[in-house]
Amino acid sequence: MMALEEAVARVNRELTVLPTAEVPVPQALGMVLAETVVADEAIPPFANTAMDGFAIRAADSVGASEQSPVTLPVVATIPAGAVAPRALESGEAMRIMTGAPIPDGADAIIMVELTKPAGFDVNILAEVAEKNHIRPAGDDVKIGEEIFHPGTVLGAGHLGVLASLGRQSIRAYRRPRVGVMSTGDELVEGADELRPGQIRDSNRITLLSLVKEAGLEPVDLGLIRDNEQQIRAALERGVESCDAVITSGGVSMGDFDYVKAVLTQLGDFSWMQIAIKPAKPLVFGVLNATPIFGLPGNPVSSMVSFELFARPGLRRMMGLLDAERAQVDAIVDEPLPRNKDGKTHFLRVMARVNDTGTWIVRSAGGQGSHQLTGMASANALAILPDGPGLEQGDTVRVMLL
Ligand code: AMP
Ligand code: MG
Repeated sequence: MMALEEAVARVNRELTVLPTAEVPVPQALGMVLAETVVADEAIPPFANTAMDGFAIRAADSVGASEQSPVTLPVVATIPAGAVAPRALESGEAMRIMTGAPIPDGADAIIMVELTKPAGFDVNILAEVAEKNHIRPAGDDVKIGEEIFHPGTVLGAGHLGVLASLGRQSIRAYRRPRVGVMSTGDELVEGADELRPGQIRDSNRITLLSLVKEAGLEPVDLGLIRDNEQQIRAALERGVESCDAVITSGGVSMGDFDYVKAVLTQLGDFSWMQIAIKPAKPLVFGVLNATPIFGLPGNPVSSMVSFELFARPGLRRMMGLLDAERAQVDAIVDEPLPRNKDGKTHFLRVMARVNDTGTWIVRSAGGQGSHQLTGMASANALAILPDGPGLEQGDTVRVMLL
């Protein structure tokens, strides 16, 4: 059996970052920026008020208090999106709404809570300093400022800033299109009736969802039968249309495990028996510059294999440096038994932080590689080194999903 680290290294050795592309801003969430974004507009573009209230001259509020208000005539109302009809003169006030531009002649805003209406006038109930509640032009971003640098992972806030600048597209590392196919003669699509010996295909939707969750673009390559010609044709279609392909099933020791056979004929693919449980077998290689991950068919195995090999590799292809899942040390809250078999075990667990800030784990359910409900409710994989298992109170390394 091959050590896990060796298998991971083999996969990563073959993977390269995809080229950059001009990407519409609305599609760029989670992508890695490949340019320096320089602001060609200021944010905000003009000085405006941070409060609903009145634009005044600070000097006119001197001495104002609740007991002795200063009364000013209200000469205009400025909604957001409008501009004042004229400049503010000394001794005047203009009603103004949050986001509206500061009128010429005003140097302070007094918030509405510190005023009282008095017919067509307003009573100013407090002194305000110059610049009070005024957000100057460029207070967030100045023209010419370098705001985002290559390598930035674009989040919701970044897209908002780009939208504030009126940017329609940016240069980013391409998001890999990842094709997913299931293989197996026993598999049934959708709600079709199960004949004896048949089960439903669950790996395809699971893997497509993992691909999507990882920030990659999923492509459904369908359900393929255990037939060498059909597998070969599907792989060729996948390699043609995708940046990476994931298959499930057909990579073990069975008589009809043709994915392994076809891939090893097609090119320089390694069939690995990795010292882990679940997900021992893996076929990996590159065909026409397209990496292909041949994952095992058992539902939990395919998910764990995706987590260990495909997810980090594929995320690195889109330029993400932080491609790995976070790991923490946790305290085992109930015995986690295992047998000694030369393998590292990845147990499906529920991890949580207790009131003293310690990570605690418990089993998330059945630990068979066919027991997908345990994986479904797990939020972490506990990494059990070879040996007799762990007792309550032991420490275990945990990969957070
Ligand atoms: P294989 O790796 O093809 O030998 O399959 C191992 C086990 O996983 C068998 O019990 C298969 O029936 C099951 N299996 C394979 N592919 C799928 C799939 N797409 N959905 C659900 N179970 C599957
Ligand atoms: Mg099979």
